[in-house]
Amino acid sequence: MTVAALILISVILLFDSLRRHVPQKDGTGDLTVTINDTADEEVIDAGIPPAATESSAVEIPYEKKEIDNEAYRRIVKLKADLGMGDLIMVNRDNPCRFPDISAELVSASSGIKSDKAYKVAYTTIQLQKVATESFSNMMSDFYSVFSDGDVTVVGGFVSYADQNANYKPVAGDVPFVSSENQLSPGYSDHHTGLALDLKLVSSSGSISAYDGTGNYKWINDNCYKYGFVVRYPFGKDTITGVAGYPAHLRYVGVPHSYIMHDNGFTLEEYMNEMKKYIFGYEHLYYSVYGYDYEIYFVPAETGAEETVVAVPKKDDYSVSGNNCDGFIVTVCRKADGEKWQPTPSPAVAENSTENSVTTDAAAGDLQNGAAQIMPAQTAAAGAQAVPAAE
Ligand SMILES: [Zn+2]
Repeated sequence: MTVAALILISVILLFDSLRRHVPQKDGTGDLTVTINDTADEEVIDAGIPPAATESSAVEIPYEKKEIDNEAYRRIVKLKADLGMGDLIMVNRDNPCRFPDISAELVSASSGIKSDKAYKVAYTTIQLQKVATESFSNMMSDFYSVFSDGDVTVVGGFVSYADQNANYKPVAGDVPFVSSENQLSPGYSDHHTGLALDLKLVSSSGSISAYDGTGNYKWINDNCYKYGFVVRYPFGKDTITGVAGYPAHLRYVGVPHSYIMHDNGFTLEEYMNEMKKYIFGYEHLYYSVYGYDYEIYFVPAETGAEETVVAVPKKDDYSVSGNNCDGFIVTVCRKADGEKWQPTPSPAVAENSTENSVTTDAAAGDLQNGAAQIMPAQTAAAGAQAVPAAE
């Protein structure tokens, strides 16, 4: 056997071993690929230009994609970064890591505009700035349709101490809790600063539960256009660990809110789904607001303090931990009328060492925490004012 033949066999074996790591499409629970055909009608109701919120989900590839290694550089994420970002999943299996988000927290009332489209029960209720802004924009659009200012934020960021003070432990091993106060301290979605609870307070001061029906169905039906999801939908309580609760909204950001909405995913299901899209293999592609998104998952190095994460050299991106075992990279491309296409080139496997870590860039990324994708944020935050027209 010649040396060349040995090399060829080695390459085939290596390629085969890499292929075995490609997550297989199993035919169940697949992402559906849909055009949001109800968007226009809803958008007109909301006074939002249709072009601004049109969701055109593109083909989601399941085959291995040709990844242009030259288009990516490497940054380092720390173990602590797993608990940072818009997609962190805090539930009974994944306690909050309590990153310092104090610089991000603002009063939920700081988003109230002159239209007084919503109320806040206490000025001490805080949310992360991005959630406050998006919620405020949504409520302004809601108010422009219904002239109803009764929606009231009654809960936002909750500290460990506050959850501990209000904790009402439930006896036994239950499949889900019926109230968020039954979640052990450290395990509440409210620790993220990205979750809020609503009630209704009328002009006469009468208080009632928010159940997402009547006028308020608009909010639960449309919140995904503003980066929010209903965190605890009915019928998914054994998955989320909390009984169906329409009054609890959670900010995850665009495009993730669209993907979750279009596919009926809870955060738990979506984070599980993301593990099919490991960097270097199939990536998830989605278009919202005229922006093309590429999303992929980078598993955290087991037992290591650092994980090398591939990020695009040129495009806007954000990195969010899943608060469990990996990072989701969201790349945003605005192609000015041209559809972004991956550049064909030799495929590269995950954990490639061909590119060295760009240390100064990595340091900058770490300092900034989870970098925000500015174009998408702008589009989402100002959905009524920022048409995505080319
Ligand atoms: Zn809540």
